[in-house]
Amino acid sequence: VKGMRSFKARVAAVLSGLVALVMLPTFGAVYYTTHANAVETANAGLESGARMFARLMASRASQLLEAVGLIASDFAFKEAVATQDVDTIRSVLLNHGGRVGADVAMVISLDGRIAASTSPGLEQREFPFMDLIARAERERRVTTVVLLDGQPLQIVVVPVYAPQRIAWAAVGFALDDALAAELRGLTQLDVTFVVTGADGTTRAAATTLELGTRGALDAQATGLAGMTAVTETELDGRPWLVRALPLGEAASSGSVLLKSPLDAALAPYFALRDRLATVSVLALAAALLGGFLLARGVARPVEALASAARRVEQGDYQATVTVHTRDEMHELAQAFNSMQRGIADREEQIAHQADYDALTDLPNRTHAHRHLERLLRTDSPLGVLLLDVDRFKEINDTLGHAIGDEMLVQVGKRLRAGVREVDLVARVGGDEFLIALQGVAGGQVERVAEHLGNAMREPMRLGDVEVYADLSIGIALAPGHGTDRQTLLRRADIALYDAKAARSGLQLYTPGRDEGHAGKLRLAHDLRRAIANGELEVHYQPKLDLRRGTVPHVEALLRWRHPQLGSVPPDEFILLAEQTGLIRVLTTWVVETVTRQLAGWQRRGLDLGAAVNVSGLDLMSAGFPAQVEAALKAVALPGERLVLEITEGALMRDADLALEVLEQLKRLGVRIAIDDFGVGYSSLARLRRMPVDELKIDKSFVLNLATSQDDAIIVRSIVELGHNLDLEVVAEGVEDAASLDLLRSFGCDLVQGYHVSRPLTLTALEAWLAREQDGKEGRRA
Ligand code: C2E
Ligand code: CA
Ligand code: CA
Repeated sequence: VKGMRSFKARVAAVLSGLVALVMLPTFGAVYYTTHANAVETANAGLESGARMFARLMASRASQLLEAVGLIASDFAFKEAVATQDVDTIRSVLLNHGGRVGADVAMVISLDGRIAASTSPGLEQREFPFMDLIARAERERRVTTVVLLDGQPLQIVVVPVYAPQRIAWAAVGFALDDALAAELRGLTQLDVTFVVTGADGTTRAAATTLELGTRGALDAQATGLAGMTAVTETELDGRPWLVRALPLGEAASSGSVLLKSPLDAALAPYFALRDRLATVSVLALAAALLGGFLLARGVARPVEALASAARRVEQGDYQATVTVHTRDEMHELAQAFNSMQRGIADREEQIAHQADYDALTDLPNRTHAHRHLERLLRTDSPLGVLLLDVDRFKEINDTLGHAIGDEMLVQVGKRLRAGVREVDLVARVGGDEFLIALQGVAGGQVERVAEHLGNAMREPMRLGDVEVYADLSIGIALAPGHGTDRQTLLRRADIALYDAKAARSGLQLYTPGRDEGHAGKLRLAHDLRRAIANGELEVHYQPKLDLRRGTVPHVEALLRWRHPQLGSVPPDEFILLAEQTGLIRVLTTWVVETVTRQLAGWQRRGLDLGAAVNVSGLDLMSAGFPAQVEAALKAVALPGERLVLEITEGALMRDADLALEVLEQLKRLGVRIAIDDFGVGYSSLARLRRMPVDELKIDKSFVLNLATSQDDAIIVRSIVELGHNLDLEVVAEGVEDAASLDLLRSFGCDLVQGYHVSRPLTLTALEAWLAREQDGKEGRRA
């Protein structure tokens, strides 16, 4: 949401930025043009003002000339000058000067004094402009502007002849406020006369401006007087265009300032500017609003999508996103919706896969277990059926997996069709199914099971073959046989194995049934698959030669890593294998594995033999020697590397047959060891005839050798007995150094036991042997 806000802000900022970008140059252009216009107009005004001023000055100069001409040619005047009749002179001056409105008129005597004047204050003073006299003498007349007592004065000076020059006459107009006003009337310009006094200060001598402005004028006068070109300046807070013109030939005589106020000229521009500003503000507001709306138009659907995405994240796929526009946002929303549907579909698929078996589309084991637990919580009676297809492996192997798969599908369908909708039918293993009948009591459950069995009576067409699927069914009932899932399933399983064993097709769990027995059955069942699944492994335990300190043999000991039960010790499954006949398969596998390993060692120059435990059943079954021979041949291994350990009991059960087989085996060169010697009841006479090489003292005598006097006596006797029969004697189960020392003192040939080494994996054994080798070499060195 924060991102959205900043997005809106950005859009608004960009839009208003654009507006500003457009408005600013407009402002600039408008100002520039109007201002230039105003200045130009003002300029033109100033220009014509300047011309007007020149013309005015010229016309005044000719008036002055006319007046002074009349004075100079007046007979009475000349006479008065000659007689120094000041009163008459004055009256003539007044008379002729007054006619043109001159402000001052005077007569200057040849010695440069003002002999008479219309302003009596001037009389008898030195005429201050002697240079004008000099010029007038040369040019016969002079017209110019001078400063008289700080006041600018347009003055005309001419000589007076009678017939010789007898004096000078001068007439002048003051450049005063009245003149300024007159000029203003003609030009519409403000006019100021600026003069620089003897003390060097420049000031306004006359102006059309009000008195208040005059002070400001005086302060700026020096600067203003220098503005001989049209200049824009500010005066008393107002903008002006100013032009200064010199009043006379000499700059010192002052200047006239023509001024045109700019604000008036700019007034239309200001109006325009204000209108523009209003428009700009409106445009800006419109941009902001538009930006906000536009951003909201974009942000709304994006926000909707984002919150929809969050809903999807939380697993809600229901809400669709609607965008009421016909643009890309709409497309995006549609894409999002279809993506959401896709995710929902796929998730459903995955969930389905997690809970359903891909082949039969029935619930799988996980699902079934969950379902069972749910049902068990309801406390209603429950029938649990475990169903297994008889001979399925056979069918699968002979007819192929495709047919096998098809068969499972068909079985699944028939089971599903054979029960009510509410009942659970699940596939819980390769050819194992589970049915949970809800709210059904004992007798009824068995009837349903029978019915299901019957449903299989019809042959199944699988490809081009017809197959009968026979089911074995084990039944357990809740709450009678258990109230938790594990117990119920275990008991249904036991019933199932009983059903299989009895070939009864159907078996209800019998309370108190020996679960150990059933466990064994299960184990036997699993053992069948153990070889194929690579669950079997051979570990090796070294036999140490006490005299030489070498390891001539290792004993191969079988290990089974059951996928569910973990490591199953051989004591638990060898007997089982013997009972079920599987031992033959196991022994064959061990013999082949070990001979291959021996051949490998031989190739690598490792001088090592290995002992394999052989069951009595192996020994008695036809073809065992041939099998051993084949295994040796297959890897080109000499017989003496292989030791066969046969228990005393096994040898003695059918001693004649045993003897025969042993002789066949001896012909292959293999060594024979009698295992677990001392616990059976062997006839020494028979033992003597047996072609054996080793005697392995049963570990029950060896384990406590160091502490039990009796055991020591027995072991010592067996060692002696063995030696007397020319056999090598091996003691197994040597767990401590004391026992080992005793055995050495008894002259025992070989020892085996945890004290030397525990049974080791292949890699561990090879490492152990390498360490032993190094140790020995170390000791020898
Ligand atoms: P076994 O032939 O008497 O093997 C010796 C057993 O004694 C092995 O037990 C071995 O681990 C154990 N052992 C070795 N040294 C000591 C020791 O110092 N103290 C004690 N307490 N035990 C020691 P494992 O490997 O559990 O085998 C048990 C039996 O299973 C074997 O007894 C053998 O009869 C049978 N077995 C093992 N592998 C095979 C096989 O490949 N074929 C057949 N037919 N039987 C096998
Ligand atoms: Ca053994
Ligand atoms: Ca043994």
